[in-house]
Amino acid sequence: MEFVEQLKSAVDIVGVIGEYVRLRKSGVDRYTGLCPFHSEKTPSFSVHASKQFYHCFGCHAHGDVLKFVMEIEGVGFYEALKSLAERYGIRMPKNTQVSDEDSRRRAALFQMHELAQDQFRRNLQAAAGEAARAYLARRGVKPETIEEFGLGYAERGGNALVRLFEQHGFTADLLEASGLVAKRQEGGFYDRFRNRLMFPIQNEKGKIIAYGGRALADGDEPKYLNSPETPIYKKSHVLYNLHRAKDAIRKEERSILVEGYMDAIGVTAAGFRPVVASCGTALTAQQVQALKRHAQHIVVNFDPDAPGAAAAQRSIDLLLAESMLVRIVELDGGLDPDEYCKERGPEAYAGRLKEAKGYFLWLADRARARHDVRTTEGVVAVLQSLLPTVKRISDRVERLAVAENLAAYIGVERGVVLESFRKSVADRQEKPIERPKEFVRADEKGLIQVLLSAIDGRERLMAGLEDTAILERLATRRIFQAIRAVHASGGSLTFDAVNTRLEPDDQNLLAELLLSEEADGGEQDLMHGRLCLESLLRSEEQLRRAELKAQVKQAERAGDVIEALRLAQELERLERQARVLTSKGRPV
Ligand SMILES: [Zn+2]
Repeated sequence: MEFVEQLKSAVDIVGVIGEYVRLRKSGVDRYTGLCPFHSEKTPSFSVHASKQFYHCFGCHAHGDVLKFVMEIEGVGFYEALKSLAERYGIRMPKNTQVSDEDSRRRAALFQMHELAQDQFRRNLQAAAGEAARAYLARRGVKPETIEEFGLGYAERGGNALVRLFEQHGFTADLLEASGLVAKRQEGGFYDRFRNRLMFPIQNEKGKIIAYGGRALADGDEPKYLNSPETPIYKKSHVLYNLHRAKDAIRKEERSILVEGYMDAIGVTAAGFRPVVASCGTALTAQQVQALKRHAQHIVVNFDPDAPGAAAAQRSIDLLLAESMLVRIVELDGGLDPDEYCKERGPEAYAGRLKEAKGYFLWLADRARARHDVRTTEGVVAVLQSLLPTVKRISDRVERLAVAENLAAYIGVERGVVLESFRKSVADRQEKPIERPKEFVRADEKGLIQVLLSAIDGRERLMAGLEDTAILERLATRRIFQAIRAVHASGGSLTFDAVNTRLEPDDQNLLAELLLSEEADGGEQDLMHGRLCLESLLRSEEQLRRAELKAQVKQAERAGDVIEALRLAQELERLERQARVLTSKGRPV
């Protein structure tokens, strides 16, 4: 695995993770951000720049840069390797390229989408693309926008894609897996998309992984046809336009969520870059997490029709569960975001964004419209309908604050109704408290930090660790075992060498030790290591003396005078030794 090591040393883990997670420098070697692998509001995700690993104190996700790419992109080892090598311009050795059937298959599917894209774009400019061009002109889509979004056209008849793929030698198995063609019952394949305006769907890195096709002829159903799930396309994980929007989302610290392709395109063309679309499917937790990696604020701008409002309400629950900060845009005149930008202009749309209401007030308005809040029954009904959503807020203090604000907004100032609302908001089932961890002493922690540092001569401390029974009683005992094993095998003491010998629980523990505040500051010299080792050895002796004392007592109680005397002498010898040691200090 020489190449893997070479790649890892060339790659900057902070840079790679920084493309997915907003990281802030929080120490000499440490960066922190919101964890991309679990839902949280305060950052517990850390990256160690010099030891090149990441670790989450919340969900315990951790690993090196390859593991990160595998997890975040949902790819296998070889693909992660390849993706990093490409990004850093490092040539993969030939033998690693052929090793993985799965990644070859995925590479072929990406290539098929590239071929299809060329074809669709050519079609749009050709004679056959006239109706599609007319549709785009009618919707006011400019040529440069068509170009930027890679819009295309799938022909009415024939099986152009099937022929194209066969010419390029793709197997029937790959044809079927691509989702771009479908299998006939009587055998053979046909193009799945016919006479449709084609919207390429890209993954976060900008690679085309699927298509959405809009029907152009009246009566063609469905109006929007999407690629099925394939090995490179997981619907629930992908947000349309995220790869174009993500830089702007980070810069503006908010995203705008719309429903359809045309909305995303129209709003972007109007000059609002941080826009993504969920595209037909209901919003999923994975999609929200992908957004949250870039910004926690989101403005939801769904269609003003009833299904749009219902979808918005469903999305809120999910966004809340992921701790997003949600506001809702409402557009007047029954216009969707694309139409609004074109008819009223970008400034008007910017105004709507600015006036977007916090989601709870928006919900309260909707509830208020259904009930008569001049009556107590009406007020109770409104509060009841808000309760489930308020209860989704994970932070108790925030939950109560929202409850107060809502009550005031609806006009409940005091009394039994407010009290019972407060009470039901307050008792939410809290998460079970985690099992307390084994206590890690400062000296064991300090010694590990020094042993795994780059300090010259740190191996000399290893001699002091031989025949040391106290190690077996430490929370870090397995880490010390691994350190000793690495040292015994003649390897150099590095984070990677030790880490690979550990089970996940101990990998977590090690990461936590190395990421702790003290690990970051000064104090990291050989002398500090010596002091920690001495402190450990001292407690070893204390431990032996305590054991001896207990044994003496036991022998006395059993009436074994000779044994009791022998043990007492041994104890005395140890105590003498301890006094000498405390006055002189023990050489290491
Ligand atoms: Zn986490």
